[in-house]
Amino acid sequence: MSNQCVFCGIVAGSVPSVKVAEDDTTYAFMDINPGSDGHVLVIPKQHSKDLFEIPADDLTAVTLAAQRIAKAAAREFGADGVNVLNCCGADAWQTVFHFHLHVIPRYVDKTKDRLVLPWQPGTPGDKDTTAALGGRLSAVLGERLATTMD
Ligand code: 5GP
Ligand code: ZN
Repeated sequence: MSNQCVFCGIVAGSVPSVKVAEDDTTYAFMDINPGSDGHVLVIPKQHSKDLFEIPADDLTAVTLAAQRIAKAAAREFGADGVNVLNCCGADAWQTVFHFHLHVIPRYVDKTKDRLVLPWQPGTPGDKDTTAALGGRLSAVLGERLATTMD
C-alpha cells in the first residue's frame, strides 16, 4: 500500500467509494467522474503503478473481474456496448498511478454517454512506416518476421 495513493485509500476504506464488487485480489467501484452512466473502475488491491508494473496474477484477476462487470453492466443498464480502457503513463491520460481498468458502458442514447472516439477511424497510416514499426516490434519480441501490408 502506498500512503499517498487515493486508490489504496479506497481499498483500505479510508477514502469513501461506491463499491460494486470485491474478491481477494480485486476491488471495483464507481468512477467519481463518469464518462457514461455506470462507469466502473477495477483495481488490484495490491498497489501497482501501471500496466508495466502489475504482476501477471493481478492483471489476470483484474481483467476477469472487468469482463464480469462489463457483462453485468450491459445486462442491467441495457448498454449497447462497453469500452474497457487502461491509461499507462501521464502522456496516455493516466492521472491516478495505481493500475486500473475503466469499464465504461456505452449507449446510443447520448444523454447517458459523454465519450467521443479519440482518433479518426478510416484514416489510413503510411504503409511503409506501419510495416517498419511492426517489424521493429516483432524483432524485439523475438517473433519470426512475417508480414507485408496489402
Ligand atoms: P485515469 O485518468 O488515471 O485513467 O483514471 C483515473 C480515474 O479515477 C478518473 O476517471 C477519475 O474520475 C477517477 N477518480 C479519481 N479520484 C477518484 C476518487 O477519489 N474516487 C473515485 N471513485 N474515482 C476517482
Ligand atoms: Zn495504490
